[in-house]
Amino acid sequence: MSEVITNEDTKLVEGLVTCRAGAKLEVWVPEKQRFYTAFLRGRLRMHGAVVYAGDWVEGEVISGFEFAVDGVRERRNFLPKPRVANVDRLMVVVSWDEPVFSNTTVDGLLVLAEYFGLSPVLVINKVDLVRVRQKRKFEHWVDLYRGLGYDVVPISVASGEGVEKLRERLCGQLVVLAGPSGVGKSSILNAIIPGVCLRVGEVSEKTGRGRHTTTEVRLLQNPNGGWVADTPGFQKVDVPLWVEARNLPRLYREFGDFRCQFNDCSHTVEPGCAVREAVEKGEISKERFNSYIFWLNQIKELRASK
Ligand code: GDP
Ligand code: ZN
Repeated sequence: MSEVITNEDTKLVEGLVTCRAGAKLEVWVPEKQRFYTAFLRGRLRMHGAVVYAGDWVEGEVISGFEFAVDGVRERRNFLPKPRVANVDRLMVVVSWDEPVFSNTTVDGLLVLAEYFGLSPVLVINKVDLVRVRQKRKFEHWVDLYRGLGYDVVPISVASGEGVEKLRERLCGQLVVLAGPSGVGKSSILNAIIPGVCLRVGEVSEKTGRGRHTTTEVRLLQNPNGGWVADTPGFQKVDVPLWVEARNLPRLYREFGDFRCQFNDCSHTVEPGCAVREAVEKGEISKERFNSYIFWLNQIKELRASK
């Protein structure tokens, strides 16, 4: 008969994985308010457990700097680029100008957020560049996305507008940024997290290569509570890499309010298409529908070239 050996002194504590580099982990233990170097106990390794930044683990503090992991909690969600588990908010960043605002880009990023089941906050940066004659156009976009139920935060790192509001939004959350190069992701992080120096853009984005292939994403501690990944997530161009044509319609959340004659309607040529009818009636925005067609074609092009 096998006997279960328990050690009375063993106390399981929980920790958050903040970085993984090969087999080595860095774990933050809230109870101790400090970081530990961690490793998976043999039993876990035998079962092929894989742990990512953002995973909650339980284990034992075995010395002043070491933590042995006995178990991994179930993940709520998982972002594959960068690899982060349990993401609370995907901060989709675009700019009003330089680079110029593109609703197609916004929709591509929102589609990816929806696809991975992440709650997005849409940050429109550089609002200091909104000219007087562009005001109405700017408000049109803000209203459109708010009307769809998205959390929109217009900000300007340059003037400070909206920065405090964004800081509050991200408080206590595990956040990953996403968005094209040059929109101000590093500037935003430097503004909302005192003392942080983000390496965004530097190498991983601008040259398309990783900093070091072995170094994974690291979660940076937000002094206001919460965490931010030091590596930005996808860019809009990633849509065709992840999403299949048949999945695209459900990622445009307002399309779900309309029932087409065919369940698998692509909203392009089918008869009895309630989505196209809603666009005609102005119940679905033309801009959203046009971006849907754009992304659908991008997906088809990629599939055709494979
Ligand atoms: P990233 O590539 O997304 O990380 O973007 P950066 O943070 O490197 O910013 C790109 C450029 O935009 C830099 O020259 C910033 O100084 C500038 N920038 C950032 N925020 C603002 C803003 O609110 N207004 C203006 N006018 N420029 C900004
Ligand atoms: Zn349809």
